[in-house]
Amino acid sequence: MSIASIENKLLEATVKLIEAAAVWLPDDVENALLKAYEIENIPATRSFLKAMIDNVKIAREKRLPICQDTGVVMFHAAVGDKFPFTGLLPSILRKATVEATKRIPLRPNTIDVFTGKNPGDNTGRYMPWIDWDFVEGSDTAEITVLLKGGGSEVIGRAKNLIPAEGLKGVMKYVIEAVYEAGPQPCPPIIVSVGIGPNVSTAMKLAYKGLLRPVGQRHEIPEVAKFEEELLRAINDIGFGAHGMRGKVTALDVHVDYAPRHPATLSVAVVINCWAARRASMRIYPDGRVEYLTHPHLNKEVV
Ligand code: SF4
Repeated sequence: MSIASIENKLLEATVKLIEAAAVWLPDDVENALLKAYEIENIPATRSFLKAMIDNVKIAREKRLPICQDTGVVMFHAAVGDKFPFTGLLPSILRKATVEATKRIPLRPNTIDVFTGKNPGDNTGRYMPWIDWDFVEGSDTAEITVLLKGGGSEVIGRAKNLIPAEGLKGVMKYVIEAVYEAGPQPCPPIIVSVGIGPNVSTAMKLAYKGLLRPVGQRHEIPEVAKFEEELLRAINDIGFGAHGMRGKVTALDVHVDYAPRHPATLSVAVVINCWAARRASMRIYPDGRVEYLTHPHLNKEVV
């Protein structure tokens, strides 16, 4: 296959990936919403959850965006050092964003901070955003797209704590962030927490935590235990779906960390709304594509 035809194939595959994220909630999130519906008993809360679950089904059947706010397009690329098409990816991801905006359609959400202009295609300086990870010894690339609405983005925050505040201080900061957010990020939410030597590292880890499926605990037992404690504490706040009160304010909490500096303890919190839209695909060195979060797409010809 020529480079031009591989480029074209990967462009179409990426448009399909963005469409999957926009219209088809991943199974782990949908199952968590169904579970929340089962365990809530306040009628108003249940009716909000039912509306969300119906919304998910209708969007999937009609191939329409789950929410009018399709966010800004954010990619995470985990690329093997033997993957042959790394250099093509930035332009493919950008062109796919333009195409997806037209075809799905996505709401044009990128407004230039200085000119106030919206190009209408979800691109702009550094947009679509791409986070890169390089994977030693691998010849594939895993691309994940996140579409995250503004209502949950505005809640993100980071702070340098005093190291003596320790994990108790981290817990207090996260719970305060969720409490002060109230129903604005459209609960039930997914909370992702990064801890590290500075706010930049902590925020990167927090965003990376949004790639992890709901219900999947951290591989380090102490971190997994902290996630469970935070999840219990957040659900004890009792906001429930859209602030209608209930047992499920958060569908899950993800935590990750890097070592701190002796003088610092930085923490970042990002929140995803119930419409936690993400889709992943793996690209093989022969140009073949496998959809990971939406395997039904593997049956469709790209
Ligand atoms: S927070 Fe999420 S569900 Fe609520 S309006 Fe924004 S994108 Fe939609």
